[in-house]
Amino acid sequence: MGSLNIGIAGCGIGGLAVATLLAKQGHKVALFDQFNAPSPIGSGLVVQPVGLDVLHTIGAAEHALRLGAKITSMEGFETPSNRKVLDVRYENGFGLAIHRASLFDALYQCARVAGCQIRANSKVQSTELQNGGRVITLSSGKVCGPFDLVIDASGANSPLSPLRAEPITYGALWGVVDWPASTALAQNQLQQRYHSADKMIGILPIGTMPDDDTPKATIFWSLRQKDFDTWQGAPLADWKAEATALWPDIAPFLSQITSHDDLTMARYKHGAMWKNFDTKLAFIGDAAHVASPQLGQGANMALLDAAALAEALAKHPLQTALPAYQKARRAHVHLYQFMSWGLTPMYQSDSKIMPWLRNWILAPLSKIPPFPWLLSKIGSGNIIPPIQRPRP
Ligand SMILES: Cc1cc2nc3c(=O)[nH]c(=O)nc-3n(C[C@H](O)[C@H](O)[C@H](O)COP(=O)(O)OP(=O)(O)OC[C@H]3O[C@@H](n4cnc5c(N)ncnc54)[C@H](O)[C@@H]3O)c2cc1C
Repeated sequence: MGSLNIGIAGCGIGGLAVATLLAKQGHKVALFDQFNAPSPIGSGLVVQPVGLDVLHTIGAAEHALRLGAKITSMEGFETPSNRKVLDVRYENGFGLAIHRASLFDALYQCARVAGCQIRANSKVQSTELQNGGRVITLSSGKVCGPFDLVIDASGANSPLSPLRAEPITYGALWGVVDWPASTALAQNQLQQRYHSADKMIGILPIGTMPDDDTPKATIFWSLRQKDFDTWQGAPLADWKAEATALWPDIAPFLSQITSHDDLTMARYKHGAMWKNFDTKLAFIGDAAHVASPQLGQGANMALLDAAALAEALAKHPLQTALPAYQKARRAHVHLYQFMSWGLTPMYQSDSKIMPWLRNWILAPLSKIPPFPWLLSKIGSGNIIPPIQRPRP
C-alpha cells in the first residue's frame, strides 16, 4: 500500500502507539488532542506481558521498563479473616506496573522520533466523509483533512464513537504516594484487601516518574459512584480510620494523603462495539471498548488494538484492512469483556453471593492445576491469541 495520510483523534496510550507504528510504515500521521501540552494525568496501571510485546515492537519498552515496576504476583486477602482469596502469579514474565505519565513519556518520545505531528489544543468534535476522504472538525470550528483514514483513539468519552457503555455501580478513588521506607510490603506485588465486595483497598508499586527518581505507589479505594459526594463532604480522617481498620499496613501510605483532592474518582463503564470500523474510520482502545480495571487490561487492550490495526494496514489495502483489523481483535476483546463482566462483581459490588463464590469456589480452585496456569494466562492477557491471524 502507498503512503496514507492518517488523522488520529486522541494522543493517549492507544493513539501514540498506533501513530508510531504507522509512521514507521511510511504513512503521514497527525495526532489531535485536547490537552494544552503533553502532560498527562492519571495514576498507575499495569501493562501485561502481551502489551509489553507491543511496546517492544514500538521501541518504547526499554524506556518503560526503566521507569516502571515489575510485578510478579497479585494477592488479595479477605478481612477480618485474613484468608488469601486471590493469588495470581505470572508463570512466564511479569506485569509492568507504571504511572500513566511514565508510559505516556515512553510512547510520546517514540512518536516524535518516528515523525508524527502532534497537535495540542485540538479538541475533536466530529468527523465526516468529504472530498473522497474523511475530515476531522475541531471544537474551534477548524476542519482538518481530508485524511485517507481517521483513527478514533480519544478514549472512554470519545465524541466520535457510537459506543454507549453502561456505567458500573462502583468506581474507585485513585492516588499516587511515595513508597514509604517504613513499609514491609513487597515492591513486586499488587496487594488488595477486601471486606465482602463492598470494600476494597489496594496498593500497586509503580516505579518512578519521568522527572522524579522516588519510587511511587498507587493507592486505590473502591467506592460507589453515587457515594463520591458524601465521601468528599466527610472528614478525611473518617475514611483513613475505615481504611486502616481494614488493612493496618496501609497507614504509612495513607499518612501522605492530606486532602480529598489528593485522590481522583475514576468512574467505570462496561461495553464494547461489535463493529469497530466504518468507512475510512477505525476505533481503538477505550473508544471501542471499556471495562472495569479489575483484570488490568485497559492500556493493554489499546496497545493490542494499535498493533492489530497497524498489522492489518501493512498487509491489506485500506478497504480490506479495516475488516481484517476487526477480525484480528474481536474474539480477544469480547472474551475479556465477558470475563470482566463476570469477575468484577466478585470484587466490587453490593452482592453477597459473588464474594462468597470468590472466597469459597474461585479461591480454592485457584490452587488446583490447571487453574493457577489459567489465571496466570488470563492476567497476562493471552488466554487466547490477542491478535488472531489467518492460518497460512
Ligand atoms: C486523563 C486520564 C487519566 C487516566 N488515568 C488512568 C489511571 O490512573 N489508571 C488507569 O488504569 N487508567 C487510566 N486512564 C485510562 C487508561 O489510560 C486507558 O484505559 C488506556 O490507556 C486506554 O487507552 P486509550 O488510548 O484508548 O485512551 P486514553 O489513554 O484515555 O487516551 C485518550 C486521549 O484522547 C484525548 N481526548 C479525549 N477526548 C478528546 C477530544 N474530544 N479531542 C481530542 N482529544 C481527546 C485525551 O486527552 C487522551 O489523551 C486514564 C485516562 C485518561 C485520559
